[in-house]
Amino acid sequence: MNSYAVISDVHANLEALHAVLEALERESYDALLFLGDTVGYGPSPNECAALLKEQSKIMLAGNHDWAAIGLTDISFFNPYAKAAIEWTGEALSDDNRAFLQNLPLTATLTGDNIYLVHATPIEPQQWHYVSNVDDAEDCFYAFKEKICFIGHSHMPFIVERSSKGAIALHYGSAGIKEDNRYIVNVGSVGQPRDGNPRAAYALLRGNAVEIKRVPYDIVVTQKKMKKAGLPSYLIDRLALGR
Ligand code: ZN
Repeated sequence: MNSYAVISDVHANLEALHAVLEALERESYDALLFLGDTVGYGPSPNECAALLKEQSKIMLAGNHDWAAIGLTDISFFNPYAKAAIEWTGEALSDDNRAFLQNLPLTATLTGDNIYLVHATPIEPQQWHYVSNVDDAEDCFYAFKEKICFIGHSHMPFIVERSSKGAIALHYGSAGIKEDNRYIVNVGSVGQPRDGNPRAAYALLRGNAVEIKRVPYDIVVTQKKMKKAGLPSYLIDRLALGR
């Protein structure tokens, strides 16, 4: 089985993305997979799109990517997210707009028995949330592979389902057992919301999956956001990891 670094929800935060890519230079793995939301919230959409394009073996679309190019209705977005999406729509280059438009919503790594989706395997384009263990349990019926990687909620966790249907919730890491199946939320690179402001990334290697965190220069990102005129609520939350 190949080993993978899996990341999600960069949200145009170049400093966080750089920190993760630098940390990954010290790790061994075969390929980088990206689960969507290149843009939205942060001040560096074009730079993040360029880097992810260059570094990822697979890139998916997220709801903010779709919103920024007018593919999804933003009337359900909160006013801060909406303001950031409007700013992003103006800032994106034509090339990156076209690039985001062509990204898939899901991907399957057949040889490694892995499924990738931004939000949930149930109606990927509806951008549902996996908010609790019951939600996760329902999701196991919506994909057939052994491991499903997701992002979207910016809250990292690992849910394990045994062949008898027993569910276990893990944070940080979990062993991959032969008969069990897994849903892994890799958390967010650019806007963590689990109370830990450090950028998150996951590594699937051998018989284990691990979610790691790396600090980045939040103040630099915050200054760029301020200069861009992005909402102060979005600027402040980076330091809180909320
Ligand atoms: Zn997101």
